[in-house]
Amino acid sequence: MGAGLSGIDLAHHVAQNSPPHWSWEIHDVHDDLGGTWHTFTYPGIRSDSDMATFGFPFRPWPHKSTLGQGADIKEYIRDVARDCGAPSVCGPAPGSRTLTGRPTRSSTRSPL
Ligand SMILES: Cc1cc2nc3c(=O)[nH]c(=O)nc-3n(C[C@H](O)[C@H](O)[C@H](O)COP(=O)(O)OP(=O)(O)OC[C@H]3O[C@@H](n4cnc5c(N)ncnc54)[C@H](O)[C@@H]3O)c2cc1C
Repeated sequence: MGAGLSGIDLAHHVAQNSPPHWSWEIHDVHDDLGGTWHTFTYPGIRSDSDMATFGFPFRPWPHKSTLGQGADIKEYIRDVARDCGAPSVCGPAPGSRTLTGRPTRSSTRSPL
């Protein structure tokens, strides 16, 4: 799933609801978690949404600011990952590949 907000959200729910004998790992093509918030680190990067709606519903945003600074969002994701037993990611899964696509133009549609 990757280790962005979506993947760590999934990890949280798997950790909460999976049978105790299950083992699982998070794989990401990057060497650290955070997804968007790991990839982009330019000065001033922040969320556009308020963190009360952008953040995890099960984890209150721990900062006073309504919008999240990029580095704070990455740490927030890391805290959730740590709590669900996945403080790091394992790199790309063996044999995995990134799916790529190319937009196709339908003959019944006008050119873009
Ligand atoms: C500056 C900025 C501000 C933003 N602000 C907001 C906002 O305020 N509100 C909002 O709703 N959205 C915002 N977004 C969009 C934001 O990216 C998403 O909402 C959210 O962070 C996406 O999380 P995600 O986990 O779905 O995807 P990503 O963060 O993109 O994470 C996906 C992860 O999957 C990994 N991955 C991909 N393919 C593979 C593969 N084949 N194998 C293994 N790993 C793989 C990637 O490396 C990546 O780490 C913003 C984006 C940017 C750049």
